[in-house]
Amino acid sequence: MRRFTYVTANTVTDAVKTKATTPNAKYLGGGTNLVDLIRADIEHPDTLIDITRLPLADVEEISTGAVRIGALTRNSHAAAHPLIRTRYPVLTQAILAGASGQLRNMATVGGNLLQRTRCHYFYDTAAPCNKRSPGEGCAALNGGYTRNHAVLGTSRNCIATHPSDMAVALAALDAVVETESAEGNRRIPIEDFHKPPGETPYSETTLGENELITAIELPVLPPARNSRYRKVRDRSSYAFALVSVAAALETENGRITNARLALGGVGTHPWRARTAESVLKGAPATESTFREAAEAELSTATLLPDNAFKAPLAVRTITATLTSLT
Ligand code: SF4
Repeated sequence: MRRFTYVTANTVTDAVKTKATTPNAKYLGGGTNLVDLIRADIEHPDTLIDITRLPLADVEEISTGAVRIGALTRNSHAAAHPLIRTRYPVLTQAILAGASGQLRNMATVGGNLLQRTRCHYFYDTAAPCNKRSPGEGCAALNGGYTRNHAVLGTSRNCIATHPSDMAVALAALDAVVETESAEGNRRIPIEDFHKPPGETPYSETTLGENELITAIELPVLPPARNSRYRKVRDRSSYAFALVSVAAALETENGRITNARLALGGVGTHPWRARTAESVLKGAPATESTFREAAEAELSTATLLPDNAFKAPLAVRTITATLTSLT
C-alpha cells in the first residue's frame, strides 16, 4: 500500500495555491477514475487535494445567453438540468449513455473530461504501454487485441480511444473549458483541450500541471435543440462505445444550413468530424448526402484487422443519426 496525504480546499484560490506548492499532488473530485487508477498502481500521487467543497456545482445561464456548467456538477445533475435537456439534448443523452447511475451520481463534469483511456493494456501493468510508461512500447500495436481501439488520430505510439461520451457531445457543441491557476484564468476551446497521441501519448490534454478546471461553457447554439447522441456498444448499458455519434442539424427548404458532428469510440480523442461537416454544409438533407459525408470522414481511418469493422459501423451510425434528425 502506498501512503498519501489528504487535504481539503475550501476556495478555488486555496486549491490552486496548494497544488502549486505541493509536489506530486492531484485534485480529487468524484474520484471515479482517479481512485481506480491509484488502486491499479497507475497513478501515484503523494497528496490528494479534495476539491468537492468548492462552489463549482451550478448550472446557470449567463448574461450572453450561454450556459455555464460548474466543473464539480455531478454528471447526473448536469444531464437532468432543464437548461441542458431543452437546449442541448445531445449532451443529456451522451451523459446518460455513459457509465452507470451510481457512477454518474458521483462523477463530476470536470473529471469526465480528464478520465483516462480504458485500453486494457494501459491497466495491465505487466504489459508495455507508452501512455503509462513513456518509451516502453505499445502492447496493442505489437500484436495485441485491438477490437476496441481507435481508427482516427492514431500514431505509431498509441491507438487508444478516449472513453468519454460527454466530451463527444461537448466537441459537437463547441464548448469552452474554463480554468484557473496561480497564473490566472484561461478559456480553452474543447477542440484544443484533448491532444492526439503523436509522439507523446502520455500527455493527453493542454491543461497546465497546476490548472484547475472550473467550468464548461456551452455557447448559444440554436441547432443544438435538434440534436442527438447515438451510441453503439457490445451491451445495452455500462459499456464503452464501439462507435458513437453526437449530431445537431438545422435545415431550410430541404437543405442543410448548419450541421455539427462529433464521434466517439473511433478517435484517440473526442473527434470533431470537420470533413463530414464541410460535405454537409449547403447540401440536400438526404440519406445519400449523410452517407457521403460519413464516408469522407472515415476515408482517412487507419484500420487494423480487429477494428476494421468500426469504419463501416461509423458510416452507418452517422447516416442513421443524421437521418433521424431530419
Ligand atoms: Fe498503451 Fe496506448 Fe498502446 Fe494502449 S494503445 S497499450 S494505452 S500505448
